[in-house]
Amino acid sequence: MPTAKNPNRSPVFRLITIAAAGLCSFVIGLWGLDIGFGGQTDAMTPQTLGAIVASLCALAAAGSSLSYFAGVDESADYVFSETQIDKLTGLNARTAMVGKIAEAAVRVTRTGEPVYLIDIDIDRFKQINDAIGYSHGDELIRGFAKRLRATLPKDVEIGRIGAGEFAVLYPDSGSMGDIDVVVRMLIERLSQNYRLSTHVQSISLSVGVVAMPKDSNDPILLLRRSNLALQHARSRGVGGWAVYEARMGQVAEHRQWVESELGAAFDRGDFELYYQPQMNMIEGRVVGYEALIRWRHPERGMISPMEFIPVAEETGIIEQIGRWVLRKACADAHHLPEDCFVAVNISPVQFTDRDFVATVCAILDETGLPASRLELEITETAMMRDRERAARILRDLSDLGISVAVDDFGTGYSNLSYLLDFSFQKLKIDRSFVNRLEKDQGSGAVVSTIVGLSRALGVRTIAEGVETESQATLLKAAGCEVVQGYLYGKPAPLKIEAPDLQRSYAVH
Ligand code: C2E
Ligand code: CA
Ligand code: CA
Repeated sequence: MPTAKNPNRSPVFRLITIAAAGLCSFVIGLWGLDIGFGGQTDAMTPQTLGAIVASLCALAAAGSSLSYFAGVDESADYVFSETQIDKLTGLNARTAMVGKIAEAAVRVTRTGEPVYLIDIDIDRFKQINDAIGYSHGDELIRGFAKRLRATLPKDVEIGRIGAGEFAVLYPDSGSMGDIDVVVRMLIERLSQNYRLSTHVQSISLSVGVVAMPKDSNDPILLLRRSNLALQHARSRGVGGWAVYEARMGQVAEHRQWVESELGAAFDRGDFELYYQPQMNMIEGRVVGYEALIRWRHPERGMISPMEFIPVAEETGIIEQIGRWVLRKACADAHHLPEDCFVAVNISPVQFTDRDFVATVCAILDETGLPASRLELEITETAMMRDRERAARILRDLSDLGISVAVDDFGTGYSNLSYLLDFSFQKLKIDRSFVNRLEKDQGSGAVVSTIVGLSRALGVRTIAEGVETESQATLLKAAGCEVVQGYLYGKPAPLKIEAPDLQRSYAVH
């Protein structure tokens, strides 16, 4: 058991209690003796007196040890409640939950009846906590735990194993039905809004499930695997759940490899930029190019940015990579037609860096590219991280004459009121809407709405991921004039055709 200091009983305090208990027992004994013998103790023989003093010493020792053990018990209780019970929710704390999983594993071995470990995590809890303040964050956690407890039978063990993360041990024979029914029901109930003292908070969840004994009997491994399943569910989008599969471990291993290789890749110069044209359908010409990073590993070949950008963001190396992309794209832009701009993706980590605007200015100076030929693609999610700061940065960029496109528009926040706080020049309609244009009418309505919204805001639109003529036609009908996608050109390296460098650009 981990040691926890008991602030109610310091070592000095405990020593004083023990000494006082011993002394008190001795004095009380002496006093009782004096009363008992009516002050006649002088007449006693040395043997009798010796025996009486010895008994009194024994009494004092008993008093001290009683006090000692009471102290130990109290400390043990204290340590137990500190480490085994989660103060905020009253559920099992992480250490206790590890113990419960171990006990369940022993039972599973004996009875052969499977038990599931369900890992439930509130998406973006850290950001929610930062946004609403820690006391409301605590209120949310308490409300969540209460609902979770109320949803499950009394004998089901529940623990809080991380800030916004909970674990449940659910037996295969549980009274609520099959595991998929239980998980769906948990997600449905726990994702309902929470009424906090100041506002109503909405949340989404990701859930991972492992089975004992199939996936392991080791509590730590089980927790790791349920979390791998959870991460997998999260990577597929909000509100999802996944059951652990062995390949998820390989994905995690690959991720670790990526992390360990990124620094060397940067030093070796493995990265390249590809460019994809953006076509104005009305003018019938290319108006800009989006720079997309590529990693050509000497042994493993091409690695997708979807694989390494999130890792680079987590480790922080994205700052270096992002600066390199910006500098290279601005330098390359001199080889694009003069009436074309270059669009550069900016990671949320770069965008929230305090020197971001200064870095962009320095790079424009260094490369001699006019601000009007640079466009920055920034996602909604990046803007929402710190709204006030984002608004300031966007204003500064706009004052400098740099255009900003809201990337992946429509996939992040349903609340559009934030748009009014931000200055930007373009909405980039996400590929997922374009993708569904031909199949479902709802997507067409979404695109028309976005175009209408952009007109009301006085900004332009561009649609990404256009692969077919009919998608292009539908987009045009919805009022979207600029498009980008495989139909017009795949991302490709910049081809500089000597001697006429000015006219050279990406070919497909
Ligand atoms: P994104 O910004 O949404 O970029 C568009 C992605 O869609 C690119 O994937 C592009 O190759 C792909 N794409 C373009 N047209 C089509 C199409 O018609 N059909 C389909 N299915 N896909 C199309 P890519 O290059 O793999 O990049 C993926 C993501 O990685 C980008 O998504 C962006 O978020 C990130 N990324 C790429 N380069 C950079 C960079 O330099 N910096 C940062 N921070 N992120 C980058
Ligand atoms: Ca983009
Ligand atoms: Ca996108």
